[in-house]
Amino acid sequence: MDIFEVVKDAATIGISGHIRPDGDCVGSVMGLYLYLKKACPRAKVEVMLEKPADVFACIKGIEEIHTDYVSDVERYDVFFALDGAKDRLGEAEKFFDGAKKKVNIDHHISNKGCGDVNYIMPKASSTSELIYDVIADKSLLDTEIAKALYIGIIHDTGVLQYSNTAPSTLKAAAELISYGFDFSRLIDETFYEKTYVQNQILGRALLESILFMNGKCVVSMVDKKTMNFYEVEPHDLEGIVSQLRNTKGVECAIFMYQTDTLEYKVSLRSNGKVDVAKVASFFGGGGHVRAAGATMQGTFHDIVNNLSAQIAIQLKA
Ligand code: 5GP
Ligand code: MN
Repeated sequence: MDIFEVVKDAATIGISGHIRPDGDCVGSVMGLYLYLKKACPRAKVEVMLEKPADVFACIKGIEEIHTDYVSDVERYDVFFALDGAKDRLGEAEKFFDGAKKKVNIDHHISNKGCGDVNYIMPKASSTSELIYDVIADKSLLDTEIAKALYIGIIHDTGVLQYSNTAPSTLKAAAELISYGFDFSRLIDETFYEKTYVQNQILGRALLESILFMNGKCVVSMVDKKTMNFYEVEPHDLEGIVSQLRNTKGVECAIFMYQTDTLEYKVSLRSNGKVDVAKVASFFGGGGHVRAAGATMQGTFHDIVNNLSAQIAIQLKA
C-alpha cells in the first residue's frame, strides 16, 4: 500500500486513534500527520485525539491535536482510524462515519477492518511500523516523523523485546534512528521514567496482588478511591500489568482499575500459553495474543471468577 495514492485527491484529511491513546497510537497518528502535511501541502490535515500523556510532548505538532471536536461531521474527504477499529475512536467515530473515504490501519487480530480501505496486519509489531511501511516515498521522512514512529514501535514492543518484534521491526527501527535523534533519552523519557506517584501506585498494586490458579495467574486491582487518593489518571497505571506478568511461573497477569460503580477496565498479559485476545474478545474487548483488554461489569470478585473460567479454557487448549 502507498498511502499517498489513498489521499492524493483529498482536500480535507482527518486522523484519529483509539481512546486512552498509548504510545503506538500517539506515535502512529502523529507520524502520519507530519508525513501528510508534507506530502499533501495543499490539503487541510487535522488530528482528533484524546489528550496524550505529558511524556509525548516531545513529538512535534502534538499541541495541534484537536481534543475538542468541531461540529461538521461530514467535513473530511478521507478519515483515518489508526490502531483500532472505529468503535474505539470515541468522539471521533462520527467524523469517521461521515467521511467520504474511510481508512483503517491497524495490527490488532481482533479487528476485521471497518473502512473502505483496510490495512490490517496482525503480525505487525505496531501501527507505527505499518505507517512506516505505507510511506512509499521514504525521501519525505525526516527526524520528527522518525521520532514519532520510533516512539510507537518502542512502546508496543516493550523496547524491541516482545515476541511481536520481527526482523522487519528492527529494520524499520534501524532506518528511523538513522535520522539522528537521541533515541536512548527518548526511550527513557517516554517509556521507563515514572513519576513518584506512578511508582507509589505500582508498588501498592504489586503489594496487594493475589496469586491464584496454582501460581499460573496473578491479579491486582486499583479502585477509584485509591486513584483519587494518589491523584492519578488511568495513563499513570500503564506498566503495572507488565510488571505483574514478570512474576516467575505466571502465565497470565490481570490488572484492573475501577471506571465506575461495578465497572472496571481490565488489562490482560500472557507469557504465551494463554491467548488473551480470545479471553478479552469473549467479554467484548480485544487486542493481541499476549496483550489484550476489555471493560467489564461486576464486582472485582465476579470479574476474576469470569476471567478465570476463560483463562482455564485457554490453559487447557
Ligand atoms: P491495555 O491492556 O494496554 O489497555 O491494552 C492491551 C491491548 O489490548 C492494546 O493493544 C489495546 O489496544 C487492546 N485493548 C485494550 N482494551 C481493549 C478494549 O476494550 N477493546 C479492544 N478491542 N481492544 C482493547
Ligand atoms: Mn498498537
